[in-house]
Amino acid sequence: MPRLSADLGIDLWIKRDDLTGFGGGGNKGRKLEFLMPQVVASGADVVVTCGATSSNFVRQLGAACAMLGLGCEAVVMDAPFEPGFPRASAPPLAEGGNEVLNDLFGVVRHRLPDGSWDELFEGAAHHAAALRGRGRRVFELRIGGSSAEGAYAFALAANEIPDGFDWVVVASSSGSTLAGLAPTLQTRGMRVVGISADPEEENRDDVLRLAREATARFGLPSLTSIDLRFDYVGEGYGVASDAGQAASRQMARREGIVLDPVYSAKAFAGLLDLVARGELTGRGLFWHTGGLPSVFGHPRS
Ligand SMILES: *Cc1c(COP(=O)(O)O)cnc(C)c1O
Repeated sequence: MPRLSADLGIDLWIKRDDLTGFGGGGNKGRKLEFLMPQVVASGADVVVTCGATSSNFVRQLGAACAMLGLGCEAVVMDAPFEPGFPRASAPPLAEGGNEVLNDLFGVVRHRLPDGSWDELFEGAAHHAAALRGRGRRVFELRIGGSSAEGAYAFALAANEIPDGFDWVVVASSSGSTLAGLAPTLQTRGMRVVGISADPEEENRDDVLRLAREATARFGLPSLTSIDLRFDYVGEGYGVASDAGQAASRQMARREGIVLDPVYSAKAFAGLLDLVARGELTGRGLFWHTGGLPSVFGHPRS
């Protein structure tokens, strides 16, 4: 990215996982490449997952289920939250964005009133049990498609990056993107910095657990250290931050590339801050995870 490199005084590159293309693009397409064969092999006729109403995973899963002739049911909350953290004053918008595509792909949504993430997971388990009770063959997928398979997909993706980068910055939430990228890139001498889209620091444990699962199952290198930052979340998950929106404008106006308000804009705001502080220098790579539809589900700024 020559113009941003000149702005920042570093050599900055970008990985365009926003352009994976499938079901509107973004990082979840890579996970689905390894999750859907499991679903098909199980003989399931319906997939049940959960997430925020504006989840990119639900949207791309909807496309995958459509092309495989499977039902897709998602238990969703507009603004799930973590107890003990301040609730955002501006809840994310539920309409527009991914919801338009979820309609198109025929995703059946079961919208619960806002509650904790644990209540959302329980809601999904309950719904899966109810469908089984009606004779459906259900396959449950974890939030964000984060499992050993999801991490494995990103360990392979890491091989698409040439040597010679000092560091890689990527957005993180349910954890398998970072859990897959970090061990492989670290083994090759790159520093990997995850920027969290959620405030709760326990998410670090999710990344470590997913990396352990992927090591056990696929023999990936083990994750020895993890650098996950919680400083750029702003008001909360799903709510656009001022720094993120400013970073988004800078990316759009200097390089003609669109970030999303929930993940990649905040991750890029983190990158800009860490460069300004002198923590990140030399040749770096921003891993763009996608999320374009969310631009149309948030207020303009
Ligand atoms: C899901 C998502 C992430 C985070 O990936 P995880 O594997 O859940 O950590 C980042 N960016 C976008 C656009 C996403 O949809």
